[in-house]
Amino acid sequence: MCYNLTTYGDCMKDVVNELLNWYDKNKRLLPWRLDKNPYHVWISEIMLQQTRIEAVLSYYERFMKELPDISSLAKVEEDRLLKLWEGLGYYNRARNLKKAAVIIMEKYHGEFPHTYSQIIQLPGIGEYTASAISSICFGEREVTVDGNVMRVFTRFYNDSSNISKESTKKMIHDHLLSILPSRSGDFNEALMELGEVVCIPNGIPKCLSCPIHSKCLSFQHSNYYQFPVKDVKRDKEEVIMTVLIPIWNDKTIVRKRKDLGLLHGLYEFPNYLGVKEEKEILLLARKFGCVERVEKSISYTHVFTHKKWKMQAYFVFLKDTFCQDMFYSILEIENSFPLPTAFTPFLYVLKEVIK
Ligand code: SF4
Repeated sequence: MCYNLTTYGDCMKDVVNELLNWYDKNKRLLPWRLDKNPYHVWISEIMLQQTRIEAVLSYYERFMKELPDISSLAKVEEDRLLKLWEGLGYYNRARNLKKAAVIIMEKYHGEFPHTYSQIIQLPGIGEYTASAISSICFGEREVTVDGNVMRVFTRFYNDSSNISKESTKKMIHDHLLSILPSRSGDFNEALMELGEVVCIPNGIPKCLSCPIHSKCLSFQHSNYYQFPVKDVKRDKEEVIMTVLIPIWNDKTIVRKRKDLGLLHGLYEFPNYLGVKEEKEILLLARKFGCVERVEKSISYTHVFTHKKWKMQAYFVFLKDTFCQDMFYSILEIENSFPLPTAFTPFLYVLKEVIK
């Protein structure tokens, strides 16, 4: 039997205090939680979109070391910014951070705006992030609904509404708003934290350690695995590519990607659509200089949100080149060029080859 919110009432209201007490005692001491500085919360929230906390920590620390405040972010060069974002993907998010920082400097004299309605006007900030910043940093009565919250909510109420639908998100948002305590920011963080560490997405939820299990219908019926209900993901488009890694004097070529499309403005190894035959590879390789030999390197598949790049790489050893200016050492690439994760495996194998 499947219950939902309308048949089960607002039992989550009864466990709000348990949830907050649990959060007070168990919350993870994350760097952006040490103060309620909106700059820290903002950067962490943008980094955490699609990436797990453990993976974000080192990026966050590196970012804060170099860009400790809104003013430094507003002034940073784009290549440097993308370099700091390297590995996180979704590079437009980094560009939007800078755009927003420039607006905050000009329109708000460098002080982060305090209200949801002002924050949501900033580039790259949607409802979720505006709610998170305004509730956590400024105590506004706003609710954050992310995947963690939806999972906890639908399990708690045995609610089989499809969470891929905006209407479900709105229903959850409205219900949480109706039971939101005065500690709105802590409540939002507590629900998200519960979804991250207790009511986990993969594997068995830790119901016996869950502060709200006394009222949870999934716990009572042992049917957590039925929730949340969501659309089945479509297959990703597959793109086959051939990657060439020219090598001359322990240096290689990376070039800036065209201004539009996926990973635009970032750097890449020369690459070509489709599988290339030996003859074609040689012809392409000669564009970089006098070819000594070509060797097959690794194949690597990189998965994006909607696409999959299946890449086969080749090392192109050159005796000489007529485009010396295009070659860089590995150190130069690592220090100065934002190379997306799609291409970093090739850099690792190149390091082994020329060391
Ligand atoms: S009791 Fe279990 S299923 Fe229910 S919210 Fe807690 S962890 Fe999730």
